[in-house]
Amino acid sequence: MIRRLLLLGTVLVSLALPGALPVHAARPSPGSAQTKECVVYVTRTGKRYHKAWCSSLRYSKLKTTKAEAERLGYTPCRRCGGSDCE
Ligand SMILES: [Zn+2]
Repeated sequence: MIRRLLLLGTVLVSLALPGALPVHAARPSPGSAQTKECVVYVTRTGKRYHKAWCSSLRYSKLKTTKAEAERLGYTPCRRCGGSDCE
């Protein structure tokens, strides 16, 4: 009985001590690394996205973001690489 009380006391003390708790490191809020928009260009008919200078954009050049282009199923152009951002 005494042993059980001692054990209970130890648990209570460890719970009461703030130093016994693991310290959570401050993390940046989710998505903060992707706040910078990555601008890419798509064409009216193609299924690729391009950098601004790409010659594939001769006929049409629609400004969008890499995230949006990928969401719509566009893939990076092989000639220009699609975008400068990773
Ligand atoms: Zn291209």
